Amino acid sequence: MDVVITLDELRQARKKLLEPVGLVPTMGFLHDGHLSLVRQARLDCASVVVSIYVNPTQFGPREDLSKYPRNLQRDLDMLTTAGVALVWIPTNEVMYPADFQTWVNVEKVSKPLEGALRPGHFRGVATVVAKLFNAVQPQKSYFGQKDAQQARVIRQMAQDLNFPIEIVICPTKREPDGLAMSSRNVYLSPEERQAATALSRALFQAKTAWEAGVHDSEQLRKLVQELITAEPLVKVQYVSCADPDTLKEQEGQVDRALLSLAVMIGKTRLIDNIII
Ligand code: AMP
Repeated sequence: MDVVITLDELRQARKKLLEPVGLVPTMGFLHDGHLSLVRQARLDCASVVVSIYVNPTQFGPREDLSKYPRNLQRDLDMLTTAGVALVWIPTNEVMYPADFQTWVNVEKVSKPLEGALRPGHFRGVATVVAKLFNAVQPQKSYFGQKDAQQARVIRQMAQDLNFPIEIVICPTKREPDGLAMSSRNVYLSPEERQAATALSRALFQAKTAWEAGVHDSEQLRKLVQELITAEPLVKVQYVSCADPDTLKEQEGQVDRALLSLAVMIGKTRLIDNIII
């Protein structure tokens, strides 16, 4: 497995890879959710490239950039075992040299949900992913349904900017008790970790209700909201029943939806979603 830092090193190593190439962008502190993307990429592609970069431009001023968990050696061991061909670990100087001044702004689908609570977040995400795409030039790139709006934003960007890259969205990997795997789960105390099971429980109960005929968007939002607020450690930021394509909040009866939520548990912000 090649591990490179600079753009020149990346380009040299990229030339040696067998085609097609699959890219899995990550912020490191890897877990089985990330590895499930790598496994899918290994099935589809001759070579897999993983980027590890905690992108400062997608963090707000009061977010967890400086304390975002890192363990590069463990990540590299996991990626070696997973059969990855090339790992790119750009530094901030590589990604954003001093005179950097070009940004990618995906308009409509960046606005609601995460975009409303994290201004500038998707501008940072879209910009860094566009740079990863241009640098690595993969045929396919893999993203998790866990970050549903991010996947939607990237898909739109790839289409609008003519990236010749297939965007593959992989299912959310969960812990045995349902909690969606996330690098941020390590922030949780044992009590908070227990409380965090309320998120997926609420979403799956809403899915059960939906399957039993509850198709009213307001009722679905209310059900999820009530189930989560029953857990005192969890503070709801939003519960949404949105159109999976436009991400606009739905009214009345729905025939499909992205049910999503964001909460704070102590100082930790968690998101989760399901498609119904
Ligand atoms: P991150 O390192 O959190 O930026 O995540 C890198 C990629 O892994 C993104 O495409 C995420 O959506 C995806 N991902 C993170 N957690 C999970 C999970 N539990 N299941 C599937 N994909 C995930």
